[in-house]
Amino acid sequence: MEYIGMYANIILPLKLAYTMSYSIPGPLERGIRKGSWVTVTMHFRRYLGIVEDISYSAPEGIAPSRIKPIDTVEPIAAVSYMEIEFWKTVAEYYMCTVGEVFKAAYSGSFSKQIEYLAAQKELKGEEGAADRLIREERENRRGKTEWHMPVLSDMQAEAVRNTEKAFAAGRSVLLNGVTGSGKTEVYITLAIHKLLEGKQVLYMAPEIAMSKQLCGRLKNVFGESLMIFHSRQTSARKKQIFNALKNDSGSPHIILGTRSAVFLPFENLGLVIVDEEHDSSYKQEDPAPRYNGRDTALMLARQLGANVILGSATPSLESFFNVRCGKFAEVRLPEKYYGEKEPEIEIVDTIRARHLHDMKGSFSNRLVNEIAFCIKNHEQVLVFRSRRSYSPVIQCSGCGEVLKCPNCNVNLSYHKYSETVSCHYCGYSAHFNPVCPSCGAEALVPKGAGTEKLEEELKSLFPEAAIERFDADVFRNKTRSDAILKDFASGKTDILVGTQMITKGFDFENLALVAVISGDSLLSFQDFRNDERATELLYQLRGRAGRRKTRGKMLVQTDHSSHPVFKSLSEGSPFETRIEDMMTERSMFNYPPCSRMIRIISRDEYEGRLLRTGKALADALSDIRGIAFTGPVAPERNRLKNLYISEIWIKLQRTPLLRQQKAQIASAMESVRKQLDFKTDIFPDVDPL
Ligand code: ADP
Ligand code: ZN
Repeated sequence: MEYIGMYANIILPLKLAYTMSYSIPGPLERGIRKGSWVTVTMHFRRYLGIVEDISYSAPEGIAPSRIKPIDTVEPIAAVSYMEIEFWKTVAEYYMCTVGEVFKAAYSGSFSKQIEYLAAQKELKGEEGAADRLIREERENRRGKTEWHMPVLSDMQAEAVRNTEKAFAAGRSVLLNGVTGSGKTEVYITLAIHKLLEGKQVLYMAPEIAMSKQLCGRLKNVFGESLMIFHSRQTSARKKQIFNALKNDSGSPHIILGTRSAVFLPFENLGLVIVDEEHDSSYKQEDPAPRYNGRDTALMLARQLGANVILGSATPSLESFFNVRCGKFAEVRLPEKYYGEKEPEIEIVDTIRARHLHDMKGSFSNRLVNEIAFCIKNHEQVLVFRSRRSYSPVIQCSGCGEVLKCPNCNVNLSYHKYSETVSCHYCGYSAHFNPVCPSCGAEALVPKGAGTEKLEEELKSLFPEAAIERFDADVFRNKTRSDAILKDFASGKTDILVGTQMITKGFDFENLALVAVISGDSLLSFQDFRNDERATELLYQLRGRAGRRKTRGKMLVQTDHSSHPVFKSLSEGSPFETRIEDMMTERSMFNYPPCSRMIRIISRDEYEGRLLRTGKALADALSDIRGIAFTGPVAPERNRLKNLYISEIWIKLQRTPLLRQQKAQIASAMESVRKQLDFKTDIFPDVDPL
């Protein structure tokens, strides 16, 4: 037989529908295997890729002379077969390429080398540094595997027993426990049990930057066994974590990580904890893979035979659905650890209050009195408003024109501290000029109140109080935002004004009153998930307002006081009751979780071409049997960063046909892409949020 050499399929960090074939030069044959890191050239650029497969026959349909050789094999520990299988599972589920998943998995760790620009030297340098770090860490950890087991309450101990019983029966668990019930203590106990079995543990949190308190608690328990992984870490640190997991020969590790931690090379994973499983930060919107860290963790655990516990005070409808159909076991912690009651709720009808001249600016007199009472008693107040900036709208008092971003179909907001107007979608910013671009009158006026204005109003209402603000504008400055949180936690600050960011992961002991300003802005009628999200946010906020000793209070100001979202809250209904109603609605209209949803998004700088794309997509999709879709439709913000946007929403039944239908949808998209010469950007979003 004629010897023709060896060939390899290479996974490249690109949106390529197929893996690329390269030949293996003789001298490299011995050092290469499945999972090896290699560099190759494509379109005159060098890339770092992974060997998916090796074969002894040349790929068909390509002249052997046109097949390029692999350039180098890199001295990086090979990726395991399991990892590649997992990437394939994720790529198939989220309808993207294996290369895109590979890129997400290793972005930032070897990514400097992924867009390979003769970075060889740097690679070797870093490798050395990382190796040293690992050795030091391993030496550090030797003999230090005494984790501090929490002393559980009876209820918590029972939750642990029931969870482990479900695990033993091969089921995943939803831990449905109110804020302050001690879910974290339950997770810690479960984690210690797994570590003692010599297994790895992955503890997922929606955002690490916001989880200082959690990091501290886990560090106290796990010491050197804890490693923290998130996307903003240095590549040396990331590499160190990769390597430590791959050579987990010392004591086992627990990783605290954000969504991308599901792509770490676990070899001996025993447990995945998904904390705050309802949180939409688990979803990656852009770029592909547009995955949900929670659901991807379930896929990972299934593949590796690990157990999963998802926990929340406000579980997602998806998880309740999974409990109902028997896929998850539900374990409940219905009471707070310190036994305090849920806060008293008061809804203030702002239409009525305005009518009766019972308002001081944005604050009702009811709320002003409540805040004054708290300050007098040295108790703390949290004021929530969903919009940052001074004013979220700028309008001409002459012609009524509302100022829009030049790049987006989005209202510009006014920031007083910097005298600027800005777009919160594309980052556009300009000096505030009161001349209306439409009628020329000098009549532009900021309208409405964002967090910055509320802060100003509060300062004039309570000149003696210590008042701070926490939102994305403040968060940009790390030192300052750390100080603000610290001062509030220590009781130095009386009133904290903030956006969604303050609802996450904080446990403030002396917080007596939570106020929601303009609760209406939580309602929107465009989106079927809106009620779920508003309810989730309000119940999360409610969970913050409970002191150790006395009962807390929550006050919501709204123009829609009879809306079911506020009604159920004020009636003190448990979260599950609301979920029940929403589930009935979803089932009636066959929305997720009762069905599956795929959103196809098209983006184009030309509106006309986008319309043609939409039509072509709709035509192609109507040929697929058994799927229902609406669109193309323009979303509320139908132009962002100079690109027009249209969407098609596809509903699929939860049947075994799903896989096949996804493949058909993918090929329909591909044919439209080709038909339109790849000019419009078309991509799928599976399980959109
Ligand atoms: P959750 O995660 O459910 O919101 P946490 O685990 O943060 O609740 O617990 C709330 C508070 O109660 C924390 O301050 C925690 O230290 C305390 N706590 C809960 N369980 C215990 C326990 N078994 N022993 C000591 N403190 C506990
Ligand atoms: Zn913009």
